[in-house]
Amino acid sequence: MMNFEIINRKNLTEGIVEMDVHAPRVACAARPGQFVIVMACEECERIPLTLVDWSCRGGWIRLVFQEVGVSTYKLGMMDVGERLYHVAGPLGNPTHIDKFGTVAIVAGGVAIAAAYPIARAFKEAGNTVVSFIGARNSRLLIYRDHIAKISDEVHISTDDGSEGFKGFVTQLLEKRLADGFKPDLVWVVGPAPMMRSCSVVTKRFGVKTIASLNPIMVCGMGMCGACRVRIKNEIRFTCVDGPEFDAWDVDWDELLHRLSAYREEESYALKLFLESRGIKVSR
Ligand code: NAD
Repeated sequence: MMNFEIINRKNLTEGIVEMDVHAPRVACAARPGQFVIVMACEECERIPLTLVDWSCRGGWIRLVFQEVGVSTYKLGMMDVGERLYHVAGPLGNPTHIDKFGTVAIVAGGVAIAAAYPIARAFKEAGNTVVSFIGARNSRLLIYRDHIAKISDEVHISTDDGSEGFKGFVTQLLEKRLADGFKPDLVWVVGPAPMMRSCSVVTKRFGVKTIASLNPIMVCGMGMCGACRVRIKNEIRFTCVDGPEFDAWDVDWDELLHRLSAYREEESYALKLFLESRGIKVSR
């Protein structure tokens, strides 16, 4: 019986929440790289979230999300003991885990948590795992201890230089590749501009790269087409054909354009939502 009760809730840092939800059937079927679609309430939007961890025995799944829009704010306001309206999953194709040799994991911001189960699975498959994690500042470097535990090496960047290399995580990767680092595979997750930069860098160094895409998604089952992406000039649906694709084949300009399609409406809806709760917004 799945009741989608929230059994743990933690603020990892400003605006980033970790939540464990009772969902035994999802937990027992989950594989690294898959995601779920969560509805906080009956009228709430469907939110696609990568599975960060799960326990079949415990009957729970772990989600990490950033409060960025109305739906994620509503989800973040829920507490232990409350029930989500629905959790659909596990969805999408699992990551192709194999023994490749050395795998570089590149992750940015809140997506560092999404990289954790994949990095762990690559490590368990006998790979040398070298992780590159970057955030705007050191406070936003979530899951660094998790990543450190299952990595052979961890390289850290912050945009403001508050920890590690000062700059983007892709610049740090580029620096290491230029110094002679030769991974057999790069696996990347994060904001689309970051994954595009990563793809440009790895193409120059000839290292095959898999990217976990984050388009706008609605149904999650290949029917609505909201998550369509252009891969090698062919339309594919991220939910059923992905979420991972060869980064060099992705039409990044189109993905970036589609991701910004509702930006104005999203920020207007958020402004109304926060104001209705007496929260002043400056943006
Ligand atoms: P952010 O904007 O704070 O960026 C995080 C890091 O990415 C930066 O510190 C930098 O190192 C790098 N970066 C950012 N912009 C870059 C650029 N133009 N070029 C090179 N590197 C750049 O990230 P955030 O606000 O935490 O957002 C995380 C993103 O990850 C969201 O867009 C979210 O949709 C995505 N995400 C994807 C998945 C997935 O499974 N595909 C899962 C979770 C989150």
